[in-house]
Amino acid sequence: MQFHRGWPKHWVKPSWNTSHSADDRELSKNTYRTKMKDADKPLSRSQIMRRVTNKDSAAELALRTRLFAEGLRYRLHRRTKGATVDILFVSARVAVFVDGCFWHGCPKHATYPKSNQDYWLPKLAANRERDQRQSAKLRRAGWQVIRVWEHDCLPPDRRVVKRIVDAVRSRQSNPSIRRS
Ligand SMILES: [Zn+2]
Repeated sequence: MQFHRGWPKHWVKPSWNTSHSADDRELSKNTYRTKMKDADKPLSRSQIMRRVTNKDSAAELALRTRLFAEGLRYRLHRRTKGATVDILFVSARVAVFVDGCFWHGCPKHATYPKSNQDYWLPKLAANRERDQRQSAKLRRAGWQVIRVWEHDCLPPDRRVVKRIVDAVRSRQSNPSIRRS
């Protein structure tokens, strides 16, 4: 099993809680503000490509770390019913996908490059369709599918974590779902 100790590398930590001087606090607040502002800007091509090749995304690592701390154990990136599921709970049959805001068309961060829209837009639409198809197929096979946005994982939203933990625990204790 793969597990990463400590904080995910790319996690933006609210460091003003731990800094010691007023200057430090001011500096880290400004840093944080800058990062938030950057999040609204359209991504550059190189930023996009970096996100694409990042299988173990910062968002996914952050979520996994939290789930592990909750006592859950899981498998990663398994091909199941034609989909590569990011985080699987096999005995509970819960499939969690961490959807990148760009590639999966998050409604909050839909800032697409203005150039080459003929290329991007159909591709993104196809991605969303594929997501829906894959979710439907897994559900028909008895899996509970939970799709989580990248932006809800940095850091992981309490409600998202609870939803997954509750689903796994309740299904694990249900003998009609639990696989032998
Ligand atoms: Zn988003």
